[in-house]
Amino acid sequence: MNDVHFKKIALIGIGLIGSSIAHAVKARGLADEVAISTRSPATLKRAGELGLGTSYHDRAVDAVRDADLVIVSVPVGASGAVAAEIAPGLKPGAIVSDVGSTKSSVVAQMAPHMPAEVHFIPGHPVAGTEHSGPDAGFATLFEGRWTILTPLPDADPAAVARLRAFWEAVGSKVEEMDAAHHDKVLAIVSHLPHIIAYNIVGTAEDLETVTESEVIKYSASGFRDFTRLAASDPVMWRDVCLHNKEAILEMLARFSEDLAYLQRAIRWGEGDKLFDLFTRTRAIRRSIIEAGQDTAEPDFGRHAAEQKPA
Ligand code: NAP
Repeated sequence: MNDVHFKKIALIGIGLIGSSIAHAVKARGLADEVAISTRSPATLKRAGELGLGTSYHDRAVDAVRDADLVIVSVPVGASGAVAAEIAPGLKPGAIVSDVGSTKSSVVAQMAPHMPAEVHFIPGHPVAGTEHSGPDAGFATLFEGRWTILTPLPDADPAAVARLRAFWEAVGSKVEEMDAAHHDKVLAIVSHLPHIIAYNIVGTAEDLETVTESEVIKYSASGFRDFTRLAASDPVMWRDVCLHNKEAILEMLARFSEDLAYLQRAIRWGEGDKLFDLFTRTRAIRRSIIEAGQDTAEPDFGRHAAEQKPA
């Protein structure tokens, strides 16, 4: 276990990610104080009921006062406004980070508001579920998952090392890369799959020849796995699409080309092409299991009882 401890951590935004950080900090005793602020009084009240922090603040600027580490966990489109709000309260020497799923846009929005004496180090824990809000968080969310830090070129190495140690202490593995590279990688491994899932579930909903009850009844044949992704938070994913536009459009163009290739192979009965592709993709699945990022159990480890048709 890493020897990392903060006197005061401020969590701005206390949904799935913010509350998971709160649980993990508490479970591992990583801070004396955890100050929480969120946009709505209802969420703040719920955070209090769940005992996620040691103090609760209507105004984000009040939560960050004297904090050594500030983590902003709001939809990426809101990060600029939050940065502007917290800036006057930040302590010199504080580390300010975020958890946003896009990085270049967050840097562009937050960096201009950061006082010179503050260490701004953007981050992204590549861990999540389709649930949101303060009740969705749990202490083990980050265990065995990667967190990507995207320090700016002039970042203080000691501050980066401290933030790295924090993420390691909550169970994460940590990698550093630049923001633009992060956005390309995440466009293919996360953003595109979600967009495809939203699209396929939307298509099924629009089909006139297949009834809704049939879609649900036979969903275990493949559709169901897309519905999990397509149940993700609409605000978060709207913002991801708007804030990683270039990388997503680039990956979508590649995707459309490859889909056209597949379409053609099906049309012309080119079984070898289909077989080759489906064999290569199977190997990727095996690598993910070998890397410990998923289980090899049949049907993603779902219990047999859950698979019985309704
Ligand atoms: P969430 O559960 O929906 O929680 C969002 C939090 O942000 C809430 O505290 C909410 O406040 C606040 N918020 C929403 N809109 C806001 C606005 N316009 N201004 C200020 N605060 C606002 O979301 P989440 O899943 O924790 O996601 C938070 C961040 O983590 C996002 O940037 C997302 O890209 C990133 N992320 C998510 C996942 C995932 O799987 N969900 C994984 C990795 C990273 P109120 O409830 O008080 O309104």
